[in-house]
Amino acid sequence: MRNKTERVCLCGRIIIDPKNKTGLCPKCEKTAENVLTFTSLAALGFWAKKYGPKVIKGVGNIIKSLKK
Ligand SMILES: [Zn+2]
Repeated sequence: MRNKTERVCLCGRIIIDPKNKTGLCPKCEKTAENVLTFTSLAALGFWAKKYGPKVIKGVGNIIKSLKK
């Protein structure tokens, strides 16, 4: 029978660290971090591509109005 406090990562590794809050082994934690970073960067890139020109134009207008 399995220990109730024993936790297993998605990859099948048993998590030994009792302080672990993510439920992922250190290796998967790093992978998850990388995925999160990549996803946020991709989202940022998408956002910049979609709204970038408008924002830059808007900022340009603000700068123009400040110079008046
Ligand atoms: Zn893992």
